[in-house]
Amino acid sequence: MVMLDVLIIGGGVVGCTTARMLAGYQLKTALLEKASDICEGQSKANTAIVHGGYDAKPGTMKAKYNVMGNGMFQKMCSELDVPLKWNTSLVVAFSEDGIPKLEELKHQGERNGVPNLSVIGREELRKREPNISPAACAALLVETGGIVCPYELTVANAENAAENGVRFYRNAPVTGIQKGEDCWIVQSGAGTFSAKAVVNCAGLYSDEINNMVSEDKIRILPRRGEYYILDKKYADVFHASVFQLPTKMGKGILVTPTVDGTILIGPTAEDLDVRDDTRTTSEGLAKAIRFGSLTWEHIPMRDVITTFSGIRAHCDRDDFVLGEAPDAPMFFNAAGVESPGLTSSPAIGRYLAELIAEKLHAKGNPNYNPIRKGIPKFREMTNEERARAIASNPDYAKVVCRCETVTEAEIREAIRRPVGARTVDGIKRRTRAGMGRCQAGFCTPRTVEILSEELHISPLEVTKFGGNSKLLSGNLFEKGDGAE
Ligand SMILES: Cc1cc2nc3c(=O)[nH]c(=O)nc-3n(C[C@H](O)[C@H](O)[C@H](O)COP(=O)(O)OP(=O)(O)OC[C@H]3O[C@@H](n4cnc5c(N)ncnc54)[C@H](O)[C@@H]3O)c2cc1C
Repeated sequence: MVMLDVLIIGGGVVGCTTARMLAGYQLKTALLEKASDICEGQSKANTAIVHGGYDAKPGTMKAKYNVMGNGMFQKMCSELDVPLKWNTSLVVAFSEDGIPKLEELKHQGERNGVPNLSVIGREELRKREPNISPAACAALLVETGGIVCPYELTVANAENAAENGVRFYRNAPVTGIQKGEDCWIVQSGAGTFSAKAVVNCAGLYSDEINNMVSEDKIRILPRRGEYYILDKKYADVFHASVFQLPTKMGKGILVTPTVDGTILIGPTAEDLDVRDDTRTTSEGLAKAIRFGSLTWEHIPMRDVITTFSGIRAHCDRDDFVLGEAPDAPMFFNAAGVESPGLTSSPAIGRYLAELIAEKLHAKGNPNYNPIRKGIPKFREMTNEERARAIASNPDYAKVVCRCETVTEAEIREAIRRPVGARTVDGIKRRTRAGMGRCQAGFCTPRTVEILSEELHISPLEVTKFGGNSKLLSGNLFEKGDGAE
């Protein structure tokens, strides 16, 4: 049995930011993730907005942690070398009757503590966003709105936590939790652990984990959102993240640039009975376009490069469930963390780490280093930098993903890093190989080969995302069949 001070369940952005914050204390901490990689849940498929915090109801956990988290993003992303852009958000009204609603949102944001909110008229709106539909007549301008890469952020937090001593176990689903003497006993796919404190960051399954130990039951109601991604040639069409007035199902369908230069249109909001149905549907996508066209009149459909969906962990309490469970001492929840959970994640992580450290009388970790350097990106280098990179590592001269200009050196480094990539999707999220126009049509075979070389496994064993998602089904040229 592995003996720990703290055990985190779930390797999404909340689990990984919590792990990094806990690494700042002298605590033996580990994280268990049921999937083959971290960032396989909500944190990999969302809108990637660093929300200002105008949308959440005042007094809720969502409002509090959204505004606090937003304020922590600049420092966190600088320390972790993660791209972040303060591109502002706009909430647009398409008719004069929407203007009082914008004023209400502004007032709500101010109550939540969001700075620099203003309602702007048609002329100012058009000056900022010349490509917005002519029907747009006013908008709430949120100066503190931003965009970030959610998977790079999650991976960066995990890498930094691991560099500071947190152990990560993947393919490690938690299947049972019992109260031991002064500790929790946790059964998982990676064996049995004992921990003085357990932190539930299990996203869509955070109700199941909470309900294993607490009579204060919660229920997650999965809610799917579908999206389109458009080619990078539209990178400059919109500058801000452009929302429409929110509804009771969420923040509505938006058109937003991403930090990587593509454009995102979505998400829809559809309640589901199951938690893992990440298919896209013709109805959902049609709806995304119908509403998206209110903002961007003539969406160039021929330049859609892919579609995807993400599932929100909407909680029946309609708020985040954070902190120690009332009837289970030293069991802590970060449950039901739906939007604005990405924005809130550093504040949730800090809150939980401080709370746990205090209860365990843990001292600060004098060796904690908050700095992590990202994988140097060939596509962002000047020619001189490229020449230097190739001189020091010839693998920088081998471009594997042509669409995103990702080199073999970057892919190998993504595998070799702490909590490194083990699957094709893991490579994709750490380097962008396969995320471009051809959607991995060209680079997959070489990526499989590199994974096989680095992990010393047969290419037949390489998977897209673990489990049975193998990419190759057999070898046509077995020895003796003419193979060299
Ligand atoms: C469509 C959509 C749009 C969104 N847009 C935004 C946005 O623009 N801005 C924003 O701030 N937020 C947004 N969010 C919310 C944000 O993505 C989430 O709040 C955040 O990613 C939650 O992170 P998490 O770590 O709690 O959950 P997840 O990322 O879901 O991670 C939970 C992890 O727990 C693991 N797990 C589950 N059960 C077990 C088990 N038994 N044992 C071990 N591991 C387990 C899962 O495999 C998963 O990796 C959006 C969400 C969605 C779905």
